[in-house]
Amino acid sequence: HAKGRGRGRYELFDANLRDNVEERLELATAMRRAVGDGELELVYQSRRTCGDRRVTGVEALLRWRHPELGVLGPEVFLSIAERTGRIVELGDWVLRQSLADLAELPDPQLALAVNVSAKQLVSGRLTRSVARALAESGVAPERLVLEVTETAFSDDPAAARRVLHELKALGVVIALDDFGTGWSSLQYLCGLPVDVLKVDRSFVADLPAGTAAGAVVSSVLGLGHGMGLLVVAEGVETPTTLDLLRRMGCDEYQGFIDGEPGDLIDILRR
Ligand code: C2E
Ligand code: MG
Ligand code: MG
Ligand code: MG
Repeated sequence: HAKGRGRGRYELFDANLRDNVEERLELATAMRRAVGDGELELVYQSRRTCGDRRVTGVEALLRWRHPELGVLGPEVFLSIAERTGRIVELGDWVLRQSLADLAELPDPQLALAVNVSAKQLVSGRLTRSVARALAESGVAPERLVLEVTETAFSDDPAAARRVLHELKALGVVIALDDFGTGWSSLQYLCGLPVDVLKVDRSFVADLPAGTAAGAVVSSVLGLGHGMGLLVVAEGVETPTTLDLLRRMGCDEYQGFIDGEPGDLIDILRR
């Protein structure tokens, strides 16, 4: 599968999907078979220190190799998976597969970040799913980072908070993903067992040009560091941006500057 072709198709399909109910239904049906038929895949992106660009961990990103439509990204199918409840099964597969992949690596230090959607968080099954996947893989809980977005707290903040505390009790690390784009109640942040803030890539992308984005990034850095959290910038594409982040005191970053997400072994060789 040529990468360029896959990406072009993906965008085309995404545009169609927005208003095509029939295609959405077809996807929902096809998704029922996706896990069993081995159509799901994971690509990985490295997370590195801003200082010496040393790899500290990897993030697993879900792809669906649809037999007719080619490789689909999460933006195409995640909302359908959430609405149909299929996300619980998908999320379970992601946890088990990514932890199995990590267990194969020789480096016993690298962290693994897995994205958790709002629906998964309040499904009532996440904590057990995580505990089982950890036990099966033999990976130390401290190496697993669960990334949740602020939207997870908009429906039932109390329930979401409860689950985060349960997860935290397993020993895993909690990261707030896309920070700054969502619900962002600072009062609520104080009651959450969060370890990492990931600055949304929309702010990071505008960093060199705009002062507004710069102000947001330095505020998140001040807030995060003030609370003793690790701050990670996402979506770093250029050396200029990385240099700015380094000078602002940002801890770690992820982004296409290190290449596009890919096979776990390949991205660690870069
Ligand atoms: P995210 O967790 O914030 O992941 C970062 C997204 O930004 C990824 O898109 C990644 O490919 C992209 N990205 C990373 N660096 C750069 C960059 O330098 N420039 C640009 N333009 N983009 C960059 P992807 O893989 O399409 O994932 C989109 C979102 O889907 C993720 O956002 C995450 O919220 C969700 N997602 C991905 N995998 C899973 C999964 O296994 N489970 C769940 N529940 N959600 C997932
Ligand atoms: Mg993420
Ligand atoms: Mg993000
Ligand atoms: Mg995102």
